[in-house]
Amino acid sequence: MRPHVWVNVAMSADGKLSTRERSQVKISGRDDFSRVDRLKSESDAIMVGIGTVLADDPSLTIKSPALKEKRKERGEEENPVRIVVDSRLRCPGDASLLHKGEGRRIIACSNRADPEKASKLGAYATITRAGDEHVDLAELVSRLYDLGIRRLMVEGGGTLIWALFEADLVDELTCFVGNMIIGGETAPTLADGGGFIREDRFVPLDLDSADRMDEGVLLTWKVRR
Ligand code: NAP
Repeated sequence: MRPHVWVNVAMSADGKLSTRERSQVKISGRDDFSRVDRLKSESDAIMVGIGTVLADDPSLTIKSPALKEKRKERGEEENPVRIVVDSRLRCPGDASLLHKGEGRRIIACSNRADPEKASKLGAYATITRAGDEHVDLAELVSRLYDLGIRRLMVEGGGTLIWALFEADLVDELTCFVGNMIIGGETAPTLADGGGFIREDRFVPLDLDSADRMDEGVLLTWKVRR
């Protein structure tokens, strides 16, 4: 068993998640920001790859006081469980998501991660090992299910999203398409990694909705099973 996995990203009209320098950029607007905050507040956990932590240092906290209050009323912690996929435990000890806001944190690493780093980061987060080289994502998500996580939101980046699609672990994709071109052949996209070569390996999607939002479009896709 595994949680419902929902990928949410904002990309430019040319499909980039950020610049070729991997610096964070503003792609969406206020309405999308509120939508994402609400989505986060309705999730049991939020997952990012270590590349996103190193590039953006996100806190992954809920911003709206009303949404935080609602979670507390439901008997939940103020913030969903924050999860970093980080084979070698490169996560800095002062990363914002380890310190800002209440709530549990999990760092998923592989068996090759340094035990000393594990004990240092263990002061701020639960360290869980899955896989020998990279994090075994199928094993990780099934372990998250066992911890009671039913709705897992994935915020990026492109390397982690690709790996989740490749392992057939995504159920839904929400993508805000912003009104700008970023360009750059090495700039991160929605799904990077190796890419599929054969058409029969492409991940088929069904369009659930397409709505104007801010100065762009919000697309919601369901993975066809
Ligand atoms: P990422 O996807 O956040 O993290 C990728 C890293 O995760 C890998 O390099 C790998 O590092 C680790 N990992 C561990 N196990 C893995 C597995 N089984 N499969 C895949 N990865 C695994 O990094 P990224 O692709 O560089 O994306 C970061 C960029 O995306 C930044 O520029 C950020 O600004 C942007 N971003 C944009 C949005 C948006 O919505 N616009 C959202 C998030 C991020 P190790 O081998 O060291 O473990």
